Amino acid sequence: MAETSETPARTQDYVERDRACMGPTARIPYYDLVVDHARGALLYDVDGNEYIDLLAAATSANVGHSHPAVVEAICGQAQKVIQCSPAYFYHAPEVELVEKLAAIAPGDTPKKVVFGTSGSDANDAIIKFARAYTGRPYVVSFQGAYHGSTYGSMTLSALSLGMRRKMGPMLPGIYHIPYPDVQRAGVGHLSEQEQAEFFLRPLREMCETYLPADEIACIVMEPIAGDAGIIVPPQAYVDALTAFCRENGILFAVDEINQGMGRTGKWWGIEQFGVEPDLMSVGKSLASGLPLSAIVGKADIMDSLSFPAHIFTTSGNPVCCAAALATIDVIEREGLLARGAELGAYAKERFEDMAARHAIVGGVHGIGLNLGIDIVDPATGEKCALDALKVVYRAFEEGVVIICMAESVLRFQPPLVIEREQLDRALDVLDRVIGEVEAGLV
Ligand code: PLP
Repeated sequence: MAETSETPARTQDYVERDRACMGPTARIPYYDLVVDHARGALLYDVDGNEYIDLLAAATSANVGHSHPAVVEAICGQAQKVIQCSPAYFYHAPEVELVEKLAAIAPGDTPKKVVFGTSGSDANDAIIKFARAYTGRPYVVSFQGAYHGSTYGSMTLSALSLGMRRKMGPMLPGIYHIPYPDVQRAGVGHLSEQEQAEFFLRPLREMCETYLPADEIACIVMEPIAGDAGIIVPPQAYVDALTAFCRENGILFAVDEINQGMGRTGKWWGIEQFGVEPDLMSVGKSLASGLPLSAIVGKADIMDSLSFPAHIFTTSGNPVCCAAALATIDVIEREGLLARGAELGAYAKERFEDMAARHAIVGGVHGIGLNLGIDIVDPATGEKCALDALKVVYRAFEEGVVIICMAESVLRFQPPLVIEREQLDRALDVLDRVIGEVEAGLV
């Protein structure tokens, strides 16, 4: 196990060299973990320490790290051809992957697919397709959302000042409404229908005062808000919002980059709400973390743009597509949707039990192996970022990799292949260190 107080030699060496040369825009200086290799739900650092991974490479490793079938597909494809120009030529893995994604996308309407290289560019594409198809300029997304780092996806996001400071102006025509966070808004006492009306009001008011609904191209939503703290919207809200979209000719687009690929126990997070979106973006675990993203949309919408509206040299790269086909195959063959749902329900019970015993655990929310655990000040019930960080650091010292987000929410998103014994070990560690933090021992 790692000791942050006495950082082992090789780790220290890499971290110092990194800090000297790596620009500061792309890494949060968390604890010092230099990953050497990883298998399944286990990470190993360069000094030989083992960790249970509850982060799954920010949900890029839903089928586990370096799954043998994915590795084999990558190596096999690399030996055949690593890259062929997607603007001019076809290749089998890409054709098979568009068919597969169109088939597993939610709903019965025929779908088409376009590839990119990151979740961010896929979300930019949503803006492009929605504007092109509807001929309307405006886009609405949610406060607290993270959709990416390119100008379009950065403008869709509204998570932190640091993601915008010194970089404005953003893309014009994008507006934000509150995400339906029942707990934060303090409306848990209302009926679901009343909650839905409460959260829809800002959109309605916006459309009645300064943003004509018939000029909105699309609303972009994470089916479960990931970086905002794994917030599950009320079903009635999703129903009301999608009805509003239909009534006003607005496309409903979902960002499945974090919540898709089995994370919630279904292929797509939006399936938890029984809704067929018009457009969706997919990334991260699509190719087990290789740079591949996809926009999957209703065919007529996807036909609204043609070459060269959305093309990158490496989009639809053969090795990435082969990795994606293997990843999807693993999820199906190993029954990872059901497994994730079952282990997620078990973990949620364990966290609820912790909440009952530890006053600093304010609550747990999420679906599947996809949970946010609130760390709060017991006196006020408010967020307690310091205690959340203490839990995270102590867990790391005990060999469990977890991070926090939205100030003080523990982000629990392990690989779906995590073994029950590993899960129990990690939960036991969290239970213990939460107790230590609560008792003021840390
Ligand atoms: N959308 C969501 C919901 C995400 O969580 C992320 C990344 O964290 C992105 C988009 C951006 O994806 P990428 O980092 O691949 O550009």
